[in-house]
Amino acid sequence: MAEQNFPTGDLMKGKRGLIMGVANKNSIAWAIARQLAAQGAEIAFTYQGEALLRRVKPLAESIGSDILVECDVTDDATMDNTFATLKDKWGKIDFLVHAIAFAGKDQLAGSFVDNTTREGFKSALDISAFSFVDAARRASEIMNDGGAMVTLTYLGSERVVPNYNVMGVAKAALEACTRYIAADLGPRSIRVNAISAGPIKTLAAAGIGSGRHMFKFNKAASAMQDNTDPMGVAGAALYLLSDLGLSCTGETHHVDGGFHAIGMPQEGPLREAME
Ligand code: NAP
Repeated sequence: MAEQNFPTGDLMKGKRGLIMGVANKNSIAWAIARQLAAQGAEIAFTYQGEALLRRVKPLAESIGSDILVECDVTDDATMDNTFATLKDKWGKIDFLVHAIAFAGKDQLAGSFVDNTTREGFKSALDISAFSFVDAARRASEIMNDGGAMVTLTYLGSERVVPNYNVMGVAKAALEACTRYIAADLGPRSIRVNAISAGPIKTLAAAGIGSGRHMFKFNKAASAMQDNTDPMGVAGAALYLLSDLGLSCTGETHHVDGGFHAIGMPQEGPLREAME
C-alpha cells in the first residue's frame, strides 16, 4: 500500500484496543491501525510467529504501540495469554479488530464440490469464523460497555466467486456469527459489525487462484470502476469502532466501490469488451 495520510483527530482518543491480523504493511488490519492511531487510539497487536514479529514490530513502533503478543487463534494457550496480557497491561479495552482468515491453497482453486476436504473445511471455518467468536468472547470479558468490534469479510460469502470456494462458506459463517455476537453483546451497548471489503492486494489475497483476474473484473464491473482503496476500509472501521457508529450493530457493511450493488455493468470497459 502506498504511503497515505489518514485523517487525524480525536475520535478514538482515550480508547484502547486489540488488532489481530497484521502480517505486513499491506495488511488491511494495518490500514485500520494507522487510521485508528491517527484518531488517538492506543493499539495492541497480535502476530503469528517470529517471522511476522520482525515485520509487525517496526510497524507497531511507528505508531507508538509496544504491546505485541504472539497468538495463533487455533492455540487456546496463546489466546489465553493474549487477553491476559491486555488485562494485565490495561485492565479494560474498548475495541477489537479481527482480520484473520486462512484456507489451504489446495482449497482455493478449481471445483468447490470436488476439492473441498473435511480437514480443509474444518480448518477454514475454525481459523476464519470460529476465531472471531472466541476472540469476541474473550474480548467482551475485559471490554468496557459501549465498546465495539469489527471483523473483515468478502462478497464470496453471498455470491459465488471462482476459486474462493470454502472461504466463501467460512465468510458466510463469519457474517452470521457477527449477528449472533451483536445480539448477545447488544444489551451492554457493545456493537459488533463486519466490513465486506472488495479485493485488496495482500498476502491473503495472493493465495486465491485467479487473483489477478479478480482485481481486473472488480475494477471493470464495480459501480466506481475502480479497485477498493484500503483507506476506505480503514475509514469504515473508524466509523464502526468510534462513537460515530452509535446504534449500528449486526451489520455487514460493503466497502467495494459498489461492486455488490451491480447486477449488470453499465456502459464501460466490460460492456465494450463484449461488443
Ligand atoms: P493478510 O495481510 O495476509 O492478513 C491475514 C492475517 O491472518 C495474517 O496476519 C495471518 O497471519 C493471519 N492468520 C492466518 N491464520 C492465523 C492463525 N491461525 N492465527 C493467527 N493469525 C492468523 O491479508 P488481508 O487481506 O489483510 O486479510 C485480513 C482479513 O481481511 C481476512 O479476514 C481476509 O479474509 C479479509 N478480506 C481480505 C480481502 C482482500 O482482498 N485482501 C477482501 C475482503 C476481506 P499469517 O500471515 O502468519 O498467516
